[in-house]
Formats: sequence, C-alpha cells, structure tokens
Amino acid sequence: MAEKKPIIGVSADIGVEEASNFPGHRQTFVYEDYVKAVEAAGGVPIVLPVTRDEEIIKQHAEEIDGLLLSGGVDINPLEYGEEPLENQGAIFPERDEFEIALVKAVIELEKPVFAICRGIQIMNIAYGGTLYQDLEYAPEHTLKHQQGSGRPGDESHTVFVEKGSWLHGIFGEEVRTNSFHHQAIKDVAAGFKVTAKSKDGIIEGIEKEGDCSIVGVQWHPERMADERDDMLRLFKHLVKEAS
Ligand code: MN
Repeated sequence: MAEKKPIIGVSADIGVEEASNFPGHRQTFVYEDYVKAVEAAGGVPIVLPVTRDEEIIKQHAEEIDGLLLSGGVDINPLEYGEEPLENQGAIFPERDEFEIALVKAVIELEKPVFAICRGIQIMNIAYGGTLYQDLEYAPEHTLKHQQGSGRPGDESHTVFVEKGSWLHGIFGEEVRTNSFHHQAIKDVAAGFKVTAKSKDGIIEGIEKEGDCSIVGVQWHPERMADERDDMLRLFKHLVKEAS
C-alpha cells in the first residue's frame, strides 16, 4: 500500500450568499486554487471552517500535518493594538480570532505553516507584529500592489529575496510575482525575519528564525502554481515538511 499523504488544513473564509435561493446565508469556502495547489504538491487538503470553539481549534491542529493559511479580507486593527483608519476595508473579526488561535496551536505542535497574503499578516499579528491598514499609510510605498491585470497568474511586480534565506533557495535573488493586496506588514513579529521585499520596500516574505518550515508570502502563489514550478515548490515544501 502506498504511504499515506500528509493532511494539509486550509483555513476557510466566510462568504455571504448574494444571488441564490438563500440570500444572506453564510458560507464556508476556500478558493479552489489553494486545494488544487496542495493536491499538485502531493498533500491531501481539508478545509478548516471558522470557529471560536477552542477545543475544535485544538483538535484541528492535532489532526492536520501542516497548515495553509489562505487569503481574504482585512484584519481587525484592534488585533494589533490600533484603531481603524479610514482606508481599512471589510473585516470578519471571528475569522481573525480563529486563525490567530489556529496558527499558534499548529506552531506550538511544531508543525509546518505556509501563509499566503492575509495569512502572512495573520501569522505576523499572532506573534505580536503589526500591519499598515492601507499601503497609503506606508511611507516607503510607491508601487501598485493591487495589480492591473485581472488574470491572477500574471506577473505584476518584482520581489527581491534575502540571500541565505529559505525563499532564496527557491527563487534566487529576485522573482516576479502577482500582487493583490492593499495592506502589508509594518513591524515584523519577534522571532520572524523579513526575507523578501518589493522594490519600494514593502514586506513580501517572512520566515521564522531558524525554522524554514514556517514561511509566509504576501503574493498569491496558488494562482501561479499551475504554470510556475517555482511557485508550486512552495507548496511541495509545506507537504514535505508535513510528512
Ligand atoms: Mn505586492
């Protein structure tokens, strides 16, 4: 019998039904790119629905082999000690609480985490970091990070990768990525290091110090992984570390 594949938990988003038989009905969902990327990387994806139940979160953490923190809406600034500024977008505070508790529980159990877009921001906040609520508030910000191309796999800007980092082993010194964000990390959490930035100095990648199984990126590799082997390798790494 073939060896069992690692189970990768994908944190779910909350949707609200608009046009259907059940307007206003809430949904648990993830975009298919995330689960397809995990499958292509050799893992078994399972969706972890938002909950505030600590026992359920603990059991999720115990039963998965690795965690993929998915993208989504803005994070409640109260989570990192700030009042909301005018340009902050839509928030789902219960998802923030769920994912902060989940990522901490998973890291506590020394299991790997790959965090994408909102995910890198959640992981940073969970360990005491902060965000720019909108890139307009980042003094260094000059580039367009909400890309003009609607085709999600298109390259939008260049990311420069720190020598000696784990991401450098995948991409080398620079890589072109897509970009779909209006927030970004401001202060990086203690215990994490910045390993990738865009040309205007916006943080695009972090890794846990001394532990390359905990990685986050600000772009959306899951939307590029079907055509780009380097992007797929990010997911293969998560699956390998989860084995
Ligand atoms: Mn960007």
